[in-house]
Amino acid sequence: MSEKRTEIGDLGEFGLIDHLSEKIEIKNNSSLTGIGDDAAVIEGGDHVKVVTTDLLLEGVHFDLSYAPLPHVGFKAVAVNVSDVAAMNAIPKQITVSIALSNRFSVEAVDALYSGIRAACEHYGVDLIGGDTTASRSGLVISVTAIGEAKKEEISYRNGAKVNDILCATGDLGAALVGLQILEREKQVFLANPDMRPDLEKYTIVTGRQLRPDARMDIIHELKEAGVVPTSMMDISDGLASEIFHICKASNVGATIYEDKLPIDKQTFDTAVELNLDPITCVLNGGEDYELLFTIDQKDFSKLEKHPDIHFIGHMTKPEEGKFLVTKSGTAVPLKAQGWKHF
Ligand SMILES: [Mg+2]
Repeated sequence: MSEKRTEIGDLGEFGLIDHLSEKIEIKNNSSLTGIGDDAAVIEGGDHVKVVTTDLLLEGVHFDLSYAPLPHVGFKAVAVNVSDVAAMNAIPKQITVSIALSNRFSVEAVDALYSGIRAACEHYGVDLIGGDTTASRSGLVISVTAIGEAKKEEISYRNGAKVNDILCATGDLGAALVGLQILEREKQVFLANPDMRPDLEKYTIVTGRQLRPDARMDIIHELKEAGVVPTSMMDISDGLASEIFHICKASNVGATIYEDKLPIDKQTFDTAVELNLDPITCVLNGGEDYELLFTIDQKDFSKLEKHPDIHFIGHMTKPEEGKFLVTKSGTAVPLKAQGWKHF
């Protein structure tokens, strides 16, 4: 007897999500949006609630040989806040669940929670519950974040229109380059434990990898400017992959321009040092937790002078496809490589 076996790697992360969500039916009118965006949206009277969860596993999402526990705690909260931000909502509460092996002491858990508390302070959220349990292998952290917004202010992935301007915040590629540096220095250290890694010149890229900051500042500034993005998501899997998500959900194409892509000088220099193409790092590097959004052209003048919002391209008709225009003026098809967990 042979049973059919499909490898999870054949589906990939997004294929697996589609596969699992196919059979989920929404029964309650208050469940406005289920699986498929950065966060779910729930009816809550005059406001809506958004809910999102992330699971972080030692050895998959973080490596305690170089990630300090307070940073791991901070990041676990920040990545969830980033998904709330990606809905144009304000985070209010989190729950934190952890599984620990006996390798961890009370002092280690305190260090982890010092980072969680620092993030709660930074983003103005309350820790309201969770669960703790034993783990057979290492540390597991699951954070759920709950946020609020006015219904008409929520930005979904599916609202981008032809001719909307595509915007990215901050700079991109730093977290991927930072990870490469941390992995390189770890190998050096394993080969020769007397070697002290000198990470002084890599603080921006390693900092982005170890302790990213969700762009709540941008969400507040968009509100002040009176701009509601027509679509939005956070950049956790890489710019190109996120552009594909918005194009698919909104049924549009996109053209972006290489000379508009934001990259920090340290990211650029470090990528070159590592023999990586800086633009590939920008397009396919994950975990920067910047925001990608589209705005109506009429809103351009309200954001034009913002120092940390970059206008990287525009949305086109779906049949026009997705293209990167290089510095020499050649249009090359964008490829969504993204971050591969499986
Ligand atoms: Mg997201």
